[in-house]
Amino acid sequence: MEELKCIGCGITIQTDNVKAEGYTPPASLEKEEVICRRCFRLRNYNELQPVSLSGDDFLNILNGIGQKDGLVVKIVDIFDFNGSWINGLHRFVGKKDILLIGNKADILPKALNPNRLINWMKAEAVKLGLKPIDVLLVSAYKGKGMEEALTAIDKHRKGKDVYVVGCTNVGKSTFINRIIKGATGIGEVITTSHFPGTTLDLVEIPMDDGKAIYDTPGIINNHQIAHHLDANDLKAITPKKELKPKVFQLNAEQTLYIAGLARFDFIAGDRSSFIIHVSNDLQIHRTKLSNADLLYKNHLGEMLSPPSGESIETLPPFVRHEYAIKKAKTDIVISGLGWITIQHPNVIVAVHAPRGVDVVLRPSLI
Ligand code: GDP
Repeated sequence: MEELKCIGCGITIQTDNVKAEGYTPPASLEKEEVICRRCFRLRNYNELQPVSLSGDDFLNILNGIGQKDGLVVKIVDIFDFNGSWINGLHRFVGKKDILLIGNKADILPKALNPNRLINWMKAEAVKLGLKPIDVLLVSAYKGKGMEEALTAIDKHRKGKDVYVVGCTNVGKSTFINRIIKGATGIGEVITTSHFPGTTLDLVEIPMDDGKAIYDTPGIINNHQIAHHLDANDLKAITPKKELKPKVFQLNAEQTLYIAGLARFDFIAGDRSSFIIHVSNDLQIHRTKLSNADLLYKNHLGEMLSPPSGESIETLPPFVRHEYAIKKAKTDIVISGLGWITIQHPNVIVAVHAPRGVDVVLRPSLI
């Protein structure tokens, strides 16, 4: 077959893999001008389909952005801050400004102080080697904070182009789709461009001054717990509504299982309360520390689920992190799963989380 190119983005057309770039249903090949499904949806429904990459392709994108001039908007999932962090971005962006946007603010419990979260994000970003020009919180899903975000983008881009980057699952498509739907009517305003020979596959949203907002492919980050779970389990751990904190009064030598995805041991200290902030759909099971290993062995995938089905095999084994907590109101964050607030000082605790999943401490946000 002669190689066909999409009239929208120039990518080579293929009819075999629905998920891969350039897919077109075979029937569309009859048409005079062939357009890939992604461009078709973008043109007709103003809807952007996510594209994701990893490894070398990912480095190509970062390199590509490094060579352009403009503002970089980095989107992170506030529920998976460390897991959704793109390591090494600062090495590629050079002198470009970075605006850091934390998405999914709608799931934060009411009692949480957003400014504390913003300050923590700033400090954590610096620790990870990035000094953002500003940090904002939005809910792309609910549309909350989007106007402020657009105003900030416009202010910081200083008349230049904008590159939106983020890991898969942070809500980058939801964010971009909101911009597209908010800023344009149906029409051919959105263009996609494909640079042959590279994987810098950008979707261009033109702005009034001739500059554009570019969406980049999502980056697959193996630190995300999301990549180790099947679709059902991922749904269960991903909060869709405001988190309902669960309070537990524990004596030393008691253990809590967060489904079968993490384990919290209260090792030593006076009777204390611990507040679990995870998706409302996840069950918490309390047991004796001495019984904890056996419970896991006998009930993983049943009572302790998710993981369920294939995820039981794909989830990496637990790694134990022990902490002597000196200060009251300390959060232990298990990236992608949630956090545990330690209410009282002077306790020794341990968290068991799947290998590769970041566990970090921070002052409580509440
Ligand atoms: P992408 O892979 O970064 O493009 O992410 P998507 O836009 O596909 O979103 C990933 C998941 O996060 C989906 O289940 C979305 O419904 C969800 N999501 C996106 N934005 C928000 C948000 O603002 N709040 C909440 N609660 N969920 C969101």
